[in-house]
Amino acid sequence: MNKLGIFMNFWEKNWDADHKKYIDKAAKIGFDILEFQAQPLLEMSDDHIRELRKRADDAGIELTYSLGLDRNYDVSSLDETMRLGGVKYLQNIIRKMQVGGGTLLSGVSYAGWGCPNVVMDDKRPYWEQSLKSMKEIVKVAEECGVTYCVEAVNRFETCLINTAAEALDYVAQVDSPNIGVLLDTYHMNIEENNIGDAIRLVGNKLTSFHTGENNRTAPGRGHLDWDEIFGALADINYKGRIVSEPFVMQGGEVGRDIHVFRDLVENPCEATIDAEAAYLLNFEKEMLKKHGMA
Ligand code: MN
Repeated sequence: MNKLGIFMNFWEKNWDADHKKYIDKAAKIGFDILEFQAQPLLEMSDDHIRELRKRADDAGIELTYSLGLDRNYDVSSLDETMRLGGVKYLQNIIRKMQVGGGTLLSGVSYAGWGCPNVVMDDKRPYWEQSLKSMKEIVKVAEECGVTYCVEAVNRFETCLINTAAEALDYVAQVDSPNIGVLLDTYHMNIEENNIGDAIRLVGNKLTSFHTGENNRTAPGRGHLDWDEIFGALADINYKGRIVSEPFVMQGGEVGRDIHVFRDLVENPCEATIDAEAAYLLNFEKEMLKKHGMA
């Protein structure tokens, strides 16, 4: 069966938090993977990163990483100083991931997270800058055994890569075994004409998969067609990771950055979120079974 994971900030309103607590919690609920923001790695000593890795190994949890790139490190910037600073920054994050044995990075990691507030008739100059950066970043990913997953996200979060087709084009132009495409059901619901077709288009270039509902609640709670989604994953014989990334609580850095301005579950205390996590894990396992993937 595909490894199933959860993003730590389902629970936490700030990006950095007590990783050990969530390693233990994810294992207890029955997940295989815990994904968290990669940036806090830069503030951690190598010993602390190794300690987290050991905790995760002992709990049977794989740690994967995600980031929304700080716009001060925008690797698609037309400003060469900023672009080169971003290349160094991402290379450092990849090196820190290697310390903890991390092999997978997702998110908006090919441009600053957000849309440039300029009139833009043609995004190609930014695309070219990003590609130039990525060719340098991916060399470090190759050295460190990290797979760089280019996540297509909706138009309110980037101008560069909104669709599966754009992600495929980008990855083809970087041309490395250590780069692939990440699709996320929440973003696909906004940008794709047909979610199943988008998944089939990416096919064997799909290196990770994020799940979340149309309104970013837990899979199964909203109106996405999960039979279409898991059916398409079965069509491409997808064996990779499936990580849920719901956000249901207002407040904190996460509420600000993800634009969650109301609670999307009733009484969002820790016990409620635990129960939602258990619910979505079961929902996805049932979907995998139904579509012959388990
Ligand atoms: Mn995602």
